[in-house]
Amino acid sequence: MDDIGERIAELKKERNAVILAHNYCLPEVQDLADHVGDSLGLSIAASKTDADVIVFCGVTFMAETAKILSPGKTVLIPDPAAVCAMAQMCTPEQIRTEREANPGLEVVGYVNSTAACKAEMDICCTSSNAVAVVSSLEGEGAIFVPDKNLGSYAASKCPSKRMVLWNGFCPVHQSISVQQVTDLKAAHPGAEVLAHPECRGEVLELADVVGSTEAMLTHCRSSDRDEFIVLTEVGMRHRMERSCPGKSFYFPESAVCGAMKMATPETVATLLENMDRRVELPADIVDRARRPVQRMIGGS
Ligand code: SF4
Repeated sequence: MDDIGERIAELKKERNAVILAHNYCLPEVQDLADHVGDSLGLSIAASKTDADVIVFCGVTFMAETAKILSPGKTVLIPDPAAVCAMAQMCTPEQIRTEREANPGLEVVGYVNSTAACKAEMDICCTSSNAVAVVSSLEGEGAIFVPDKNLGSYAASKCPSKRMVLWNGFCPVHQSISVQQVTDLKAAHPGAEVLAHPECRGEVLELADVVGSTEAMLTHCRSSDRDEFIVLTEVGMRHRMERSCPGKSFYFPESAVCGAMKMATPETVATLLENMDRRVELPADIVDRARRPVQRMIGGS
């Protein structure tokens, strides 16, 4: 372990802290984390931990979700400027207006949303369980916020449900083009194509498998193929290469989320020393957002 790794290990022990890192974080941050995963896996880890302090290496909505699930714990984020662009595309007021315009529809919200928006939702979902959540609705259908691509994908798998889609999107996945996929396929004709459901519909049509980052990883581990074109953020390469030695992964190299790269080993060490950059949320928001988030992880 290098110097900074040792410093973080000592501080973690001293603070009784756990480090969670999203699959899109820098490789060196993933390597120092206790749990690396997608939003659903990390939400579950945050809800189960015995640690007093949760250091969330990811974007602010993820750290907020950890705080909603564990309001008594100290949740820290290495850089509070790490904001998901998609989460900014929807406001609580807009959700209330849409709900009034569509009586009878439940509000299903992608976890990539602010805590204040979650407080307006009936149930949250992640890319791992969006289809299962929509298909489990007892009513006529849903207003799906904020990702139009994930909403459209879930709607295609649940044709009996009426879906009102928001106009939000992830700029990173939205920017992956048909041309990029076609070029990657031409360069690697034997590769299987895996796509994240935040990609545009015409890109998903070119994929052999559509799924969350965890679903992609599970597929690559069990597949007898050894080459994969992976249509998601490039940070996923590190975990795939570690988990599937001997297999090759090709990404659209422009698919980089700057917010996900803000956490570094240095900022994590400084954070654990200073114990600042705490996630604080109004108590009423935490109370109202807890139910939809717990429903998402199967907690109630
Ligand atoms: S990759 Fe997209 S959805 Fe994920 S944090 Fe970045 S902007 Fe948000």
